[in-house]
Amino acid sequence: MRALYPGSFDPLTLGHLDLIERAARLFDGVIVAVLQNPGKTPAFSLEQRLQQIRRATHHLQGVEVGSFDGLTVEFARRSGAGVILRGLRAMSDFEFELQIAHTNHSLAPGVETLFLATAVRHSFLSSSVVKEVARFGGEVGHLVPPGVAEDLARLFNRCDTPRGING
Ligand code: ADP
Repeated sequence: MRALYPGSFDPLTLGHLDLIERAARLFDGVIVAVLQNPGKTPAFSLEQRLQQIRRATHHLQGVEVGSFDGLTVEFARRSGAGVILRGLRAMSDFEFELQIAHTNHSLAPGVETLFLATAVRHSFLSSSVVKEVARFGGEVGHLVPPGVAEDLARLFNRCDTPRGING
């Protein structure tokens, strides 16, 4: 059975990566797919996010990386995935994820949603928190893969160029 792990991955964190590694041991194949959501303005371009995921997962067998727009269940069907995989960090994730899972099941009863509990050490971790820490110059090396840490440094160095008193 192949599983689809969809998300924004803006950027990929070690929490996402831990989930991908565990899923790769459970399924014949895992498709990590970046959702192109027109309602969100990402910090990283689609190409950057795909590259971040490819670099971080190249050592894993059976992991493919892609992107999609539109309905997740449609992409699952097209790519031959019988399972949509989502991570649960805390109760706060649960209500929203349950709603999406029920909606997806009503649209495509043949596609199941499976939740994996986040590793405890990554349960506080989100892409937003990582961006917030990096924006203010904090250390993120223990939160994201090395390539992502470099991308974050580049992103915020460029944006935070100190301005003179008059400018
Ligand atoms: P989305 O916008 O679809 O929620 P995210 O990139 O934030 O995209 O998350 C994608 C998936 O990864 C979701 O299922 C989310 O619960 C899970 N996830 C987010 N952070 C972590 C983490 N620290 N550990 C494991 N899974 C996570």
